[in-house]
Amino acid sequence: MIEIVSLERCVACDLCVQVCPTNVFDAVPDAAPKIARQADCQTCFMCELYCPVDALYVAPDVQQTLSVSEEVVAEQGLLGSYRASIGWSRGKRNRRGSDQTFKLIASPH
Ligand code: SF4
Ligand code: SF4
Repeated sequence: MIEIVSLERCVACDLCVQVCPTNVFDAVPDAAPKIARQADCQTCFMCELYCPVDALYVAPDVQQTLSVSEEVVAEQGLLGSYRASIGWSRGKRNRRGSDQTFKLIASPH
């Protein structure tokens, strides 16, 4: 579930607002978006993927929220960590070659 929008890192581009499929964020003019409907988060990680400055943290637990501070999450390198782990960060190699989803298409139904 979406947990953190870093006010320090956010550049107010509103990409997260645009990509969120369940309208979790409210845009704020010239400021970081607000997490307005946290319970609607589907933990799809789209916002974290698209954030250009790693200002977001989506925790993997779909069911409940965490009481975690930005400081702790930043210290542990978790801001934008999903984005980094799948190779979307600048300077990272993409991982198209290790994508196995084509096998789903080949699977019997
Ligand atoms: S993880 Fe997905 S559903 Fe949750 S806030 Fe981000 S984009 Fe929206
Ligand atoms: S995508 Fe990142 S930088 Fe852009 S508004 Fe959302 S949190 Fe801020």
